[in-house]
Amino acid sequence: MTEFRSTDAHTGQPHGPALAVHGLDDVARLCTAAEAAFDIYRATSREERARFLETIAEEILAIGDPLIVAAMRESGLPRARLEGERGRTVGQLRLFAGVVRAGAWQQLRIDPALPDRQPLPRPDLRLRMIPLGPVAVFGASNFPLAFSTAGGDTASALAAGCPVVVKGHPAHPDTGALVAGAIARAVAACGLPEGVFGHLVGPGNELGAALVADPRMAAVGFTGSRGGGLALARIAQQREVPIPVYAEMSSINPVVLMPAALAARGAALGQAFVGSLTMGAGQFCTNPGLVLAIAGEGLDAFLAAARESVGQAQPQTMLTSGIHAAYEAGVKALATAPGVETVATGPMGEGPCGQAALFVTTAQAFLADKALGHEVFGASSIVVTCADAAELATVLKGLEGQLTATLHMDAADEALASELLPILERKVGRILANGWPTGVEVCHAMVHGGPFPATSDPRTTSVGSLAIDRFLRPVSYQNLSQAVLPAELTDAACGDGAPRLIDGTLTL
Ligand code: NAP
Repeated sequence: MTEFRSTDAHTGQPHGPALAVHGLDDVARLCTAAEAAFDIYRATSREERARFLETIAEEILAIGDPLIVAAMRESGLPRARLEGERGRTVGQLRLFAGVVRAGAWQQLRIDPALPDRQPLPRPDLRLRMIPLGPVAVFGASNFPLAFSTAGGDTASALAAGCPVVVKGHPAHPDTGALVAGAIARAVAACGLPEGVFGHLVGPGNELGAALVADPRMAAVGFTGSRGGGLALARIAQQREVPIPVYAEMSSINPVVLMPAALAARGAALGQAFVGSLTMGAGQFCTNPGLVLAIAGEGLDAFLAAARESVGQAQPQTMLTSGIHAAYEAGVKALATAPGVETVATGPMGEGPCGQAALFVTTAQAFLADKALGHEVFGASSIVVTCADAAELATVLKGLEGQLTATLHMDAADEALASELLPILERKVGRILANGWPTGVEVCHAMVHGGPFPATSDPRTTSVGSLAIDRFLRPVSYQNLSQAVLPAELTDAACGDGAPRLIDGTLTL
């Protein structure tokens, strides 16, 4: 057993006793238990599964302040942010409980037999979604609660009927252990097999790699770096039986300042932009890392206000020393890139603090150097000055896939916005107007996804109720008798509250 300890994000020093680290035999043990639990867990009723998700939420709340204290120490994030994140985590579990109860996720379809159809009779065909199997989840460092042990990936996989094995993030092992304990208590309270949830503790890539390679795992949910996501996707593809990897990786979230909006309120936009840029030390996957605008007085006012606000932005402790070092290297690379000017940098802090940074360049320089469009995880952004709307469209067309795109616009900008919309739709998962991309609502109509490298699969989202679809697959049943059919597909089950598509007609 190697020694592994929690680290205080503020000091970089170890905290508390040495933690027991799992080994490869533990990976096999937890995966075996997950596989053994799968058929029992997937057979639970909608009500039983919903209650289980709600019990997890209750158990997390029952931990009380020690959870917030541990997360503050391990992430360096402030109390209010983490209390909000805990609310989001339990809200997400409750949202999925509601989704499971409503039953639409089963996508029940019934095409009754047409024995007299000419020239051939039609068989009786019925379809439902079933869970994929045990899911490996890799939590994110920047959301130690809402995107981690009991975060969106875990909640949606459990809602789908998949047991989950979490590879705990090494940056917050104490927080992870507290949440894993809450889930284990909910498993016991609901009378479910232990294997419904497993939690692996330890640093280094070996554990996670073995988890994804384990033949009992059926899918992977991941949030983190592009390198990490791609490494796990490669392992998943090289297995004897390849499995899907839903990885959310990197995004710079372009913000377009449209001409009329910029002319009307350039300075106010500059100030508000820096608020979004520096929130949480910029450690959001939806952080606005790229601003696009047509040169002019409005943009000058935006830059002047942003310069002032960045200059006053308080330095904040970053999540880990590794993330801090990567941020400093990214900022240095931008500061020294040809054609890039530094607009402003924030005050220096002590310890692993991120110093806000804003850069400006021309569309020509940005188009010439792909590296300028790479994610710098933290409070750094680059403004790209375009000569006209055509150049703005060219820059947008050249971007990699993104989670979000934002349009700041007035009524006079609507014609240009309509022209840009088809370009943006091909690039991003969420398009928003007159707001900031940070702050992702957990609801039914949310997409937190997008083309590569924002995610490894542009058909999905990792936030919102649609996230459950990642862990389901359709099975069709042809001419099975009522006695053998899964209960929800029988004639007697019609009216159980779940919607059905019967002979092509949606029946509630
Ligand atoms: P990370 O290094 O990708 O780690 C995420 C998780 O994956 C950890 O549990 C890590 O555990 C595991 N892992 C990483 N590489 C692996 C590999 N090759 N094989 C097996 N497991 C692997 O992410 P991070 O530490 O949270 O942050 C680092 C960078 O990720 C940031 O600087 C930022 O660029 C990016 N990031 C992006 C987001 C986002 O929302 N898109 C969020 C957070 C971070 P082990 O290290 O123990 O293997």
